[in-house]
Order: sequence, then C-alpha cells, then structure tokens
Amino acid sequence: AKAQVAAIEGARVLNAYITETADLALAQAEAADVRLGRGEARPLEGLALGIKDLFCTKGVLTTAGSHILDGFKPTYESSVTANLWRDGATLLGKLNMDEFAMGSSNETSYHGGVINPWRRAGDNAPLVPGGSSGGSAAAVAADLCLAATGTDTGGSIRQPAAFTGIVGIKPTYGRCSRFGIVAFASSLDQAGPMTKTVRDAAIMLKSMAGHDPKDSTSVPVDVPDYEAALTGDLRGKRIGVPKEYRVDGMPQEIEALWAKGLDWLRDAGAEIVEVSLPHTKYALPAYYIVAPAEASSNLARYDGVRFGLRVPGKDLTQMYENTRAEGFGKEVRRRILIGTYVLSAGYYDAYYTRAQRLRSLIARDFERAFETVDAIVGPTTPSAAFATGENADDPVAMYLNDVFTVTANLAGLPAMSVPAGLSGDGLPLGLQVIGKAFDEPGVLNVGYALE
Ligand code: GLN
Repeated sequence: AKAQVAAIEGARVLNAYITETADLALAQAEAADVRLGRGEARPLEGLALGIKDLFCTKGVLTTAGSHILDGFKPTYESSVTANLWRDGATLLGKLNMDEFAMGSSNETSYHGGVINPWRRAGDNAPLVPGGSSGGSAAAVAADLCLAATGTDTGGSIRQPAAFTGIVGIKPTYGRCSRFGIVAFASSLDQAGPMTKTVRDAAIMLKSMAGHDPKDSTSVPVDVPDYEAALTGDLRGKRIGVPKEYRVDGMPQEIEALWAKGLDWLRDAGAEIVEVSLPHTKYALPAYYIVAPAEASSNLARYDGVRFGLRVPGKDLTQMYENTRAEGFGKEVRRRILIGTYVLSAGYYDAYYTRAQRLRSLIARDFERAFETVDAIVGPTTPSAAFATGENADDPVAMYLNDVFTVTANLAGLPAMSVPAGLSGDGLPLGLQVIGKAFDEPGVLNVGYALE
C-alpha cells in the first residue's frame, strides 16, 4: 500500500483518482501486516484496491463522476465493496469515471478526463483510457493500485480494459449484487474486477460475487472457485466465431489479432467454429434506447432534496430545475431527454417496446449459438485507444465503440476482455470472450489461454 500511495501522488497528472484515502489505506495495511504475522490472513489480506466512484463507500465521498452528488458521503457500504473488505482488501481511493457511467472515454466526468498511461509511438498526444471505468483502467495499468472495481452497462469494464492493456470481466447479470452501486440502467448494470492478470480477476471476482438479499435481481447460486478453473486446457471445447462481428471498416490489425488469438485457442486444444448472431446489427440501437430509458427513470431521484447539490430557486419547481440544470453534464442531459422521449406515451411502442423485442431476439441468438459452442471469441473494440477530444463532439462516433460489447449486457451474459497484443503504433488491443450465463469459470479459462 505504501508504494502505491507514493505512486498515486507521483501520477496525479493522470487524474485517475477523484478521492484519495491514503491515511485509511496505510492504517489498514498496518492491521493487515499484524494479521499476516499471526497467520490469520484472509483471501485478499492487505491487497490495495481502487474503487470506481459509482460504488457507495460508507463515510467516503462518492460522486459517480457528477457535480450533482457534490459532498455525498454514503451512510452505507455497497455489497460488493463490503465483500472485498470482509476478505481483507484495503481502500486506496475512489476512481474517476464518466458521469453516471455514461461514456466511452472518461471525458464526461465532472472531475475532468483521465489520461491513458499508454502513448502512441512517435506521438505525444494524450489518449483516452476508455470509459466509463477509465480511472479504474488507468490506475491498474499505471500500477496506482493492485486491482480495481469497475461497472459495465454496455462495455464500461471491457472497453477501458482493452484500451489500457489490462483484464476486465463483466459477470453474468445477477452474479454480483448491485446494492449500493449508483444505478445507471438497472437491467444492464453489473460490477466486475479490473486486474493485471486473468488469475487476479478470478481471485477478485470470487470475493465480489455472491447472492445478496438486498438486490432482488441477485441470483442465489453458489460461487465457484474461479481460480481452480484456470487450467489453460481447452481440449474438447468449441469456440464460436460470429460472422457478424466482421464489421466494415474494422482495421486489418484487429482482424489479424483475432486470427492470432484463435490460433492460440487451437493450440490449447479448442475447435473453432463459425456461428451466426443475426441480430447483432440491432444491438447498438436497442441499447441506446433501453439504457437511456432506464437512466431517465433512475436519475429522477436527484432533485436537490435528497442528495448532494442544491441550487436554490424562487419555489420548489425552480429549485429542482436549477439543481438539475447545473448538476448534470451534457451527456447525462442528452440521455435523460432521449430516455423520457422513448418512454413517453406516444412513442413508447415505437421505440421502447421494439427495443425490448430486439433485446429478446439478441438473447435468443446467443442461446442458439451456445447450443453448439462453449464460448464466443472476437475483438473487444473496433479500434485501439483514441486521442482525447477526438470523438468528444460526435456522440454517434462515440457510441460505435460499444458495437461488440453491448450484446453481452442486453443478453445478461458474462464477457471478458483480455489483452492480446499491440497495434501497429504500439497500443494495447483486447480480445473478448463471451460465455453462457454463469459460466464465468469457462470464460476465465478461455481468457487464460489467450493471455
Ligand atoms: N459506453 C456505453 C455508454 O455510454 C457503456 C457505458 C457503461 O457500460 N457504463 O452507455
């Protein structure tokens, strides 16, 4: 923890942390040393973590990357972080993120963007770390924590993991409790670990996961020993390659990386077969209706009365309006407007109902594919990390980043990004493994063979 506290201080230019809790981390580390000395170590004893600022941490500022949560110190702990502390982990601080987890570059954060510790060969322009868990990704990549938590509604663990050369897994919907995680789109949100290695992800997920009566969508199934699943042996396994993931304009180097990854899986004993996910092209439009719809409803609670910021007005309505106008950033306002529009009486069937139908079709595509294969492998993102500012004014270009990641959220399936190589100009690229519901062990083992 000491080394990491020093590293955080030395790397403030990256803007990875919103809140640093160095004193707490050092005190916890001392207590951990005592336990280690006594031979009473818990599974994560003394391991220093960064926590995405979407997780409520009791008594520690929690902003969700937004101005509207100014000064909000939760009176309770999220279940996922409580599980990590139960197992002995320590808190280095709260990590920067896109506002309310809406974004793919960390540029929508009220606390400013995060800089990707990677640089393009021969170029000094700062690159984005991806988003929305951009602070988590940058902090793990720059060794400002041993590992971090992230959340993933449409790719927010996997895309930043790919952009910074780390591992990130979004578990099956219902595997990790959502209790105490600031809600974005409740039917899509999942927490997961962001780590340096697949083994670290397996160990950390074991602590984070588990049934929680405080989240009605948390599923009462046993948490397996994920680490034991890491054999690297894929004999008898069938890996699906979706033909629809060969999108137009995908850079040749990403195609090449994908082919190389499949070779590694063949070497580990797997059989590679083509599969079809015919409704893939509807995934982005369906996601960008369902996610804003749920967000517009979830974000109704920020009214200047219950949490954080309050901007006075001449009456209650004016106070609501002033608080929300000043408290929410541009992207969040865009999502609330889209969300309320698609949920409005006249348009509900045309947009929301159709998007929900498409969601079922996308889930059925996966069910069919998983009748013949054990996992699906493709690229995590259609490109490597881009420069800050590059897509900031073009929401549609930004949303295209999520083309390979949103399907797993819409279908509720576990999916992981594993660093698999470098682009021509020296930037990390990731491959994505998607698995059957609750087959995180299978996903982790395929990732282990790719690593
Ligand atoms: N980039 C996607 C969005 O902006 C996904 C975000 C997420 O997974 N939290 O909605």
